[in-house]
Amino acid sequence: MRWSLTIGRFGGAAVKIHVTFVLLLAWIGFSGWLQAGPRAALDSVVFIALLFACVVLHEFGHVLTARRYGVVTTEVVLLPIGGVAKMERMPEKPSQELAIAIAGPLVNLAIAAALLFVAGAIGMDDLARLDDPKVSLIGRLAAANLFLAVFNLVPAFPMDGGRVLRALLAMKFGRARATRVAASIGQAFAFALGFLGLFGNPLLLFIAVFVYVAAAGEAQTTGFHESARGLTAAQAMETRFAAVPIDARLADAVDALLAAADTEFPVTDAFGKPVGLLLRQDILEALKKRDRDAAIADFMRAPVETIRASAPLEEAVDRFARRDLSGLCVVDGDGVLIGLLTRQNLAELVMIRSLRPDWRFERRRGARPTAN
Ligand code: ZN
Repeated sequence: MRWSLTIGRFGGAAVKIHVTFVLLLAWIGFSGWLQAGPRAALDSVVFIALLFACVVLHEFGHVLTARRYGVVTTEVVLLPIGGVAKMERMPEKPSQELAIAIAGPLVNLAIAAALLFVAGAIGMDDLARLDDPKVSLIGRLAAANLFLAVFNLVPAFPMDGGRVLRALLAMKFGRARATRVAASIGQAFAFALGFLGLFGNPLLLFIAVFVYVAAAGEAQTTGFHESARGLTAAQAMETRFAAVPIDARLADAVDALLAAADTEFPVTDAFGKPVGLLLRQDILEALKKRDRDAAIADFMRAPVETIRASAPLEEAVDRFARRDLSGLCVVDGDGVLIGLLTRQNLAELVMIRSLRPDWRFERRRGARPTAN
């Protein structure tokens, strides 16, 4: 996710803070200072630091549950409304998605219960200490954890409640329809929240935008999935593209760039197997500091991502969704390059399928790349 700072790693996942989260912390500290002076500001900052730790524990709840089902988390991003754990894939079974989604809020409930137990014990044993600001801090932290649990269970993406709702719907209607329904509910919720925000807390308006964008994003990814269903990589791939041989020079790459409107150029070895990818921007970057005789092997992107021609297209959609991929090289059984998948041609597929859902994709197999 853009605009986020990495603060550490846990179980293979990069833990990041989104800039808006930092801004929110600063805003709370600053307004505490203005309203009640430095001591109150310090109190707020300590409270927020502890709350922040609880949000991290919430995310670890998701990460560890996901790991039980063999799902790897690539990154955890902390946003003002909580955290988002980016997983390599979502488990197929709705029951597993349900378990992963609900683990986070359960962590907050457990923390709240533990804190209330501690606060309660202090209250029973030493009533005089009730005025102690540390005790009230525990009380406030317990209340905040209860709020986190309840708020995250609101049935709207990207909150965990949205995923819980989708998983429950998916048990009955299937994942695609469940996502559409859950996304619509989430967007309706965002409108209601935004409306409330107009008349009251501007923070609500801010959250509403987040919720709306997340619901739209979730629906879009599922839309791609739906369009790709039943198709193979070979049926959607580009078959006319310029492959550049590995021993080519910068001058050859520039020629390839000029010859057609292509912006991605797979690089192949002597056997026609893909070994790298050149993007237009790589060629332009190379032009700044290299000679025309510079070997393209020095500035191509390698290793290259490949997919078998017979692989389900949904696998390609997943790989584009979770990584910043520029192109997927489609290979036959011998590993020879026969096609190219790009974001652009997946977008075209979605357009074709939305105009003609019944369209049959009958592609000529064995089309050859145009070599330079
Ligand atoms: Zn969560």
